[in-house]
Amino acid sequence: MDPKAEQAKELLRAKRAGNWFDAGVQFRCIHPECSDCCSGRRGPGYVWVSMDEMLALANNRGITFDSFTRKYVRQVDGAYSLVEKANYDCIFLRDGKCEVYAARPIQCRTYPFWPEVMTSPKRWEREEENCPGVNVDETVVTGEEVERQLAQETENREKSGR
Ligand code: SF4
Repeated sequence: MDPKAEQAKELLRAKRAGNWFDAGVQFRCIHPECSDCCSGRRGPGYVWVSMDEMLALANNRGITFDSFTRKYVRQVDGAYSLVEKANYDCIFLRDGKCEVYAARPIQCRTYPFWPEVMTSPKRWEREEENCPGVNVDETVVTGEEVERQLAQETENREKSGR
């Protein structure tokens, strides 16, 4: 089965039974000590953007949509992603900070509450390898908030053709 369909099926199954994260999960972003999800430390990646997000980013930079897409966007398999620096850092990561923070894409806002991460407690634990904010301390993000961000990210993936 196609991995996306498998993932959707898994989430649906979990929803019927109640989410494993209903009681909340421990997470606190430790930025600026860490900027791993924006850096190229683990190699190349994608920051997917929808039309609305490209428009918001262009406004944030004070340039036209055309200039923005020419300079900062690449097309990958029919979807759009921000370009990266030569070291694979996000193009908008400067001195460990996001230059477009107020207009950052939903993908960035919702990490680590992504469908592929929230499939199971085991998979969530594994995300500790990528994100030192996962289970960092007793800070709890409620199940409702996790679900809200998960839904937002899922909807945005559909909108941006992923
Ligand atoms: S990897 Fe985790 S802790 Fe580090 S900046 Fe991203 S969300 Fe925050």
